[in-house]
Amino acid sequence: MSKNQNKTGSYSFFNCIEKNFDKAAQFISIEKGLLEQIKACNSVYRMHFPVKIGKEIKVIEAYRVQHSHHKLPCKGGIRYSMKVNQDEIMTLAALMTYKCAIVDVPFGGAKGGIKIDPQTISSENIEKITRRYTSELIKKNFIGPGIDVPAPDYGTGEREMSWIFDTFLSLRSGDVDALACVTGKPVSQGGVRGRKEATGLGVFYGIRELCHVKEDMYSVGLDVGLVGKKIIIQGLGNVGYHAASFFHESGAIIIALAEREGAIYNEKGLNVSKVFLHLKNNGSILNFPEAKNIKKTEKALELECDILIPAALENVIHKNNANRIKAKIIGEAANGPITPEADEILDKKGVIIVPDIYLNAGGVTVSYFEWLKNLSHVRYGRMEKKFRENVNAEFLKVIKTVCKKPISIEEKKMILRGPREIDLVRSGLEDTMINGFHKICDLKKSLKIGNMRTAAFVLSINKIIDSYERLGIFP
Ligand code: NAD
Repeated sequence: MSKNQNKTGSYSFFNCIEKNFDKAAQFISIEKGLLEQIKACNSVYRMHFPVKIGKEIKVIEAYRVQHSHHKLPCKGGIRYSMKVNQDEIMTLAALMTYKCAIVDVPFGGAKGGIKIDPQTISSENIEKITRRYTSELIKKNFIGPGIDVPAPDYGTGEREMSWIFDTFLSLRSGDVDALACVTGKPVSQGGVRGRKEATGLGVFYGIRELCHVKEDMYSVGLDVGLVGKKIIIQGLGNVGYHAASFFHESGAIIIALAEREGAIYNEKGLNVSKVFLHLKNNGSILNFPEAKNIKKTEKALELECDILIPAALENVIHKNNANRIKAKIIGEAANGPITPEADEILDKKGVIIVPDIYLNAGGVTVSYFEWLKNLSHVRYGRMEKKFRENVNAEFLKVIKTVCKKPISIEEKKMILRGPREIDLVRSGLEDTMINGFHKICDLKKSLKIGNMRTAAFVLSINKIIDSYERLGIFP
């Protein structure tokens, strides 16, 4: 039994990450104590507060964990779920630290959680709980543009982020940078265009990059490219829905979608926006025309496919179902969807696993852009859009004089267009995901590391060590 396992032989969620960290540490020669410092959770704030719901007073359990202060502010989402517990939030905070390092965003990792089921609570009460949680964070100095900046996660979105911002502003009036206290806000309240779909788009960019690596594709018996690849996605929330839409648009075939209540399957492919409309109208993905229902939702993970994207919750692929997984590639859109035991089984089967600490980093990357926008108080593209359009107009004149062929209105529009905020955000995200992918692969090759997860951890730990060294903390 490893030192990370408990008496029953299984791992806590935090131990799972420690196990991955320890595997990577074998490739790093630095004093053991320093690695222990990187691994440890710096601050854990567990709170209980009362909220009047109807005629009753309910005691709400909530957390904010700051895993690492090697860079400030700390950054990480807030989730609302009945499964929230200290171990889970500590683990998710640690993942944020490693993730931020991989994609070069200057934050320490954090995470928050409130133990509630948002599906059974009215929006008025969710607002009350969110505002009270924010004021608890303010009281203990656990939120602020330079301290700790939350974002959306499982069960939360723009609505919750704007309540957090409003509460912060009302208690910190006069703080000129208050907008930067939280990211994932609506665009009308200081959000950045492209944040909502950023994590799903990042998942798409990461998997697209992998599908263009000949060696990897041949190793799992697939052709190069995304077109025609059969994909299954679990979780049709913020991350899963957008990832599914981008895959669908790129020519991949979404053969199954799984939600809480069951899954739907069509070998020829599902139209993602039509499924989403069906879900909106009926409150369930089941009974979608031209698809078969699968009652036991977890069975969808075991269907024959090329790429499996778990985008719901952690630990969904474990030692009891790993052997039945038939996917050749698994893209971890969710945090921690594969347990260490399952990881070993899948590794032996030759499945390529694209790890969460890289693949779902699109959200924090664009959150970083939002934070920068808020601190600079200027929209992306505002300074250069007109200038670029004027330069492009000059280019167009030159093209017209040297090119005999007439230029269509569409071509003219394309040439003249200056960069909008959404263009800049998406290009920054694409560049980040492509660079991150190749840095992990180069390290995997040069150190002869067996899989992407360990290589991603090595990359991340090395970057954290660098920043500690720069601070003069480590000898
Ligand atoms: P979300 O709440 O928007 O969506 C989650 C979806 O999963 C919901 O539609 C829910 O009904 C579904 N679901 C729940 N249990 C399920 C089950 N057993 N089987 C199938 N579907 C199930 O959450 P999200 O923001 O999309 O986050 C999903 C995952 O991605 C989480 O692990 C989160 O930590 C991770 N993540 C999210 C972001 C982000 O920007 N939102 C960033 C990085 C990582």
